[in-house]
Amino acid sequence: MRPTYLEVNLFQLKQNLENIRAHVSPAKVLVVLKANAYGHGVDDVAPFIAPFADYIGVAIVEEGIHLRKMGIQTPILVMGGTLPEQLPDFIEYDITLAATSINLLTAAEQLALASGKRLKIHLKIDTGMERIGVREYEADALIKKSLSCSHLEIEGIFTHFANSETIESDGTLTESKAVRSSLQLERFQEVLSIYEKLSEPYPQLRHTANSGATLIMPESYYDMVRPGVLFYGVYPASDIERTIEVKPALVWKSKVVYNKVTLPGRGVSYGSLWQAEAPTRIVTVPCGYADGYFRRMTNQARVIINGKSYPQVGRICMDQFMVNVGDDDVNIGDEVTLLGNGITAEELASWTGTNEYEVLTNISARVPRVFTGAVQ
Ligand SMILES: *Cc1c(COP(=O)(O)O)cnc(C)c1O
Repeated sequence: MRPTYLEVNLFQLKQNLENIRAHVSPAKVLVVLKANAYGHGVDDVAPFIAPFADYIGVAIVEEGIHLRKMGIQTPILVMGGTLPEQLPDFIEYDITLAATSINLLTAAEQLALASGKRLKIHLKIDTGMERIGVREYEADALIKKSLSCSHLEIEGIFTHFANSETIESDGTLTESKAVRSSLQLERFQEVLSIYEKLSEPYPQLRHTANSGATLIMPESYYDMVRPGVLFYGVYPASDIERTIEVKPALVWKSKVVYNKVTLPGRGVSYGSLWQAEAPTRIVTVPCGYADGYFRRMTNQARVIINGKSYPQVGRICMDQFMVNVGDDDVNIGDEVTLLGNGITAEELASWTGTNEYEVLTNISARVPRVFTGAVQ
């Protein structure tokens, strides 16, 4: 096997889910498995975790189809935007549609009628994200339309927060133009009251909470929560209150593939951006930006070798990068930790000017995933 690989602890993921469930109960838990299970490897994570999930969330219908073809029977919601021509896939694979417009709802009803199969729907209300969905001030027509669609099962209604990880009381939000989660929740509540006025029961699954809201906004739980990054053991912001204990389940490892002493005056890697001032031991790691080890981390990143932290030096290449181990005794074959065991996704994110989500979801398919902890 390739010496550069991800070790994913399935037991830790299950533990994270159990801790989330204990905190939000009796609300259900939709486990977000989009983007290759946030980089963890959906082919192994999904079959392991599906029996413990009430619902699975994906971004695009292709991800749902992939899960169904693996034999997963848990309900699956496609949370992202869908084109009308993709609707037959929802029917064929029994996948729940986020109805983001009256047009899409109408097309779904026509298709369900023609196929003789019922299609499950979650109405998507846009309460402040301005991305997809019907705004609260126009939701009346969507709801009325949905009540007339006899071939659809209106199972859920949901919205998505734009600033859930930001603490409202600290003043930053009240002074900025950012929409507060409490305001989004009020708008969602308005939409639910439209249901009441039409004297119809709410759809049975009302849900709003992503990881941030799951941590700090219990009033947002309703019938189900949708934690993504939190399920993977990562907090959506460094200063957010850690009301639920979770731990990362992933360690990104490699091995020293080359070892040499570099002399002053000999620049390291493309662009010769870094030079030693005295003879210095430089080791090479067989991992690069094509694996998701961002080129922008050049001369910023650190790795752990034999329990000690060392700086990455010179341009990160597509397939390799160099590490300055000074005078230390580091040998070919020694294990290198790129992420995990003391290096957080948040640190990697700060070295490259992004967030933990982008770090995790960019670990490429070229990096083999090795799974541990599956034995109960
Ligand atoms: C991705 C996503 C989530 C999960 O977000 P996290 O911040 O990772 O918890 C929840 N809901 C929707 C609609 C999403 O697209």
